[in-house]
Amino acid sequence: QIPLSVEQTALAERKLAEAEAAMAEAELRQHALIETERWLAALVAAEVRDAATCDAAGGVELGRPSIERVIPAQGGMAAFDPFPPAMVGLMDADDAHLAARLAAEEKARAAAELESLAKDERLAAELAAEPLPARSFSGDSQIAAQIASADEEAQAARNAAELGPTFECPICFDALPELAGCRLQRCGCIFCPECLEGHVAARVSEGEVGTETLRCPVQGCAAPLSVGDVHTATWGRGRDELWEKYEKIADERELEALVSGGQARRCPAPTCNYIFIWSQPNDPRAFSCPKCERRYCLACDACEGGVGPAHDGMTCAELVAKIRADEEAAAQHESWRQANDQTDAQFLELMRKELKRGTTKPCPQCGQGITKNGGCHHHLCLHCRCRFCWNCGAFKPGKDQRHVCGTTCTKRSRRWWDERTVVLGGTREGSGGSSSRAPASLRDSEAEVAPAAAQAASAAAREAATAVREVAAATRAEVAHGCNIS
Ligand SMILES: [Zn+2]
Ligand SMILES: [Zn+2]
Ligand SMILES: [Zn+2]
Ligand SMILES: [Zn+2]
Ligand SMILES: [Zn+2]
Ligand SMILES: [Zn+2]
Ligand SMILES: [Zn+2]
Repeated sequence: QIPLSVEQTALAERKLAEAEAAMAEAELRQHALIETERWLAALVAAEVRDAATCDAAGGVELGRPSIERVIPAQGGMAAFDPFPPAMVGLMDADDAHLAARLAAEEKARAAAELESLAKDERLAAELAAEPLPARSFSGDSQIAAQIASADEEAQAARNAAELGPTFECPICFDALPELAGCRLQRCGCIFCPECLEGHVAARVSEGEVGTETLRCPVQGCAAPLSVGDVHTATWGRGRDELWEKYEKIADERELEALVSGGQARRCPAPTCNYIFIWSQPNDPRAFSCPKCERRYCLACDACEGGVGPAHDGMTCAELVAKIRADEEAAAQHESWRQANDQTDAQFLELMRKELKRGTTKPCPQCGQGITKNGGCHHHLCLHCRCRFCWNCGAFKPGKDQRHVCGTTCTKRSRRWWDERTVVLGGTREGSGGSSSRAPASLRDSEAEVAPAAAQAASAAAREAATAVREVAAATRAEVAHGCNIS
């Protein structure tokens, strides 16, 4: 037995009070009925006694018993009135019988009601007589929990009735109405929208948008998601940025597939991502990228059918021939360069010997190597026009400044250079026709040359080699006499 709470006890007490009030009313009503019965009996007796009078008069004024006297007006209960005022004036003997029967029926009903009320009162009294249990909070909370769970079940039943069949999400195992789920278009697997969004978001943000990675997460299904599924799980959930990312990557992959399938090509420039369809009927082998503006031959014989730089005004075969010629010229140039180096080394060795011997001396002002064959001590450098003494090296700085020694120097002969460290100066352009030349002048033509410029470079190298031979010969030539030049 569930113990009664304070509220339930109060309710029982209220019910009891109501039952007692109803009993009192029923008793009053019964008194009224007895009164009416007595009055009706008197009426019937009077009618029998005065039948002739009644007939002659065509009816009697019956008057009404004072019902208000026995039935005080009470809340909730109308005064008992078996004879509505409109009927009273017209009542005859038959009416009186009818009224008596109605009154008897009413009496029986009232008696039944009284009995029922008495039963209610007994029950209420029994209920009230129960000893009040100690107030139990745990009992209350148990009842509350029972009521709540019953409510929930009822609500769930109502929801189920409203929302139709349910499903269990394969990711979070929540039960949801099918109408609220997301059903994949290809495999028909159904998920709660949050779980599908999470699954798609994880894949797309990792860039996994291909049909091989973006699949139904149900084990044993793994059907590829459709574009519509992805749209629902991203854009449909307010994740516009994910949808845009998916579209971008998917587009790129589509183009990539076209490129790898040979239907499209990518601009060969390393930083340019331009993709184009290459289907011109007469392949001119000259592709001009509209994005990076670089130009290529896309199937060049010079690159074994691969991509190479554009070669305007030249067929691939001509380009191949030119490249071959350039390579040969470069090889030729290399052999000349080696020969030149050898000649240079020989010439330097010769100069070193001459400097040591003193038959060649550097100009004291500019370092130009000068070889002298006879003549007086008075000397003019044709390179810087320094006049200096061949014997002692004295000179006045500048051009054409007369030095002090004269044509025959009386001072002690002096070495103003060291053949091991001297750097012979001057340039080829500056050297005079009959003056000797330094090997340093050769280095101008020895800059590194790119293979493409090999032809021009090798021509220069040939010229330089000729110059080397000329220079070597010139060292033996007679040097102009300084006195005559001035
Ligand atoms: Zn879920
Ligand atoms: Zn599936
Ligand atoms: Zn490009
Ligand atoms: Zn080509
Ligand atoms: Zn002289
Ligand atoms: Zn000089
Ligand atoms: Zn001198």
